[in-house]
Amino acid sequence: MRQELDLELVSLTKRYGATVAVDAISYHFQAGTYACLLGPSGCGKSSTLRMIAGHETVSDGSITLGGRDISGLPPAKRGTAMMFQNYALFPHLTVRDNVAFSLRMQGVDTATRHARADEMLELVDMNALADRLPAQLSGGQQQRAALARALITKPDVLLLDEPLSALDPFLRIRMRAELKKLQRELGITFVHVTHGQDEALALADEIVVMNNAIIEQAGKTRAVFDAPQTAFVARFLGSHNVVSMPGGLIAIRSDALEIKPTAEAKLPGTITNIEYQGTHVALTATVPGDQEVTALLSDKDFFGSPKDLGEAIGLDWKAEAEHALVG
Ligand code: ADP
Repeated sequence: MRQELDLELVSLTKRYGATVAVDAISYHFQAGTYACLLGPSGCGKSSTLRMIAGHETVSDGSITLGGRDISGLPPAKRGTAMMFQNYALFPHLTVRDNVAFSLRMQGVDTATRHARADEMLELVDMNALADRLPAQLSGGQQQRAALARALITKPDVLLLDEPLSALDPFLRIRMRAELKKLQRELGITFVHVTHGQDEALALADEIVVMNNAIIEQAGKTRAVFDAPQTAFVARFLGSHNVVSMPGGLIAIRSDALEIKPTAEAKLPGTITNIEYQGTHVALTATVPGDQEVTALLSDKDFFGSPKDLGEAIGLDWKAEAEHALVG
């Protein structure tokens, strides 16, 4: 039975000269969580991941796993493993030898490490290709080989740096499902870095939204999506309108907006765009203060009472659909 080890970041900081890449972030990842670090390019996601992996030194603060401070340990001694964006497979080694590589470094004999590598290849459904070289594999197969190689050390935490970005859109969605399935089967913690909100929403039990070296908001994925606390988070996650009202800045989900007669609605608007999206229609309107809002209507609702460009409408929403924002 695997021990359940929580991963904790305590005021973790990374400085590169005068640049503060990660600014005293703290977060507690419960064992067995699929977590995504989500944010725009340059916000500090990879630096955070590399510090957890031990590929980057910690400038301040600490990283603990199961209560043990691992901040100063070499990568192989931490109980973590990293899967790199470009997979970093050795081109001259077969898939089996790539997967067995870290065991070879530990001095494990050939028969044992090949047996262990074959177990891992079975896990990712790659046994049939064990004798191939990386160049003889498709992108998805390379990714599975890289996963098997990272998992052979039986890590408590698997760290994944933009693992799906090298794949075409179709394969990305398939491999995304495989990652999630694998994480469920293994029951270990996955910390996955991405700048794609769809990817994070599809995969993560918890999301950590980063911006400018800090955590803007973190928690259970649905809780963050349902109640963004800052304008940045609402805009970055998408599917939300950020509207400045007399009482302050608020976020309202696009699918929570209803079209009503102006007299019965919270905001008057003029339709500037109507986009048919198959199951839905996205209707964009300008509202007072030169702001734009988008309402996502079911095709039934829209075509039950179709509207035209330039038409005056009222936009309304239920009080509980509105979330006050800071910043
Ligand atoms: P992300 O993964 O979110 O794109 P990074 O962690 O790669 O962000 O980078 C955060 C900040 O640190 C950026 O401003 C980046 O330019 C800077 N940075 C990253 N790596 C280095 C480095 N090795 N030397 C100097 N600055 C770096």
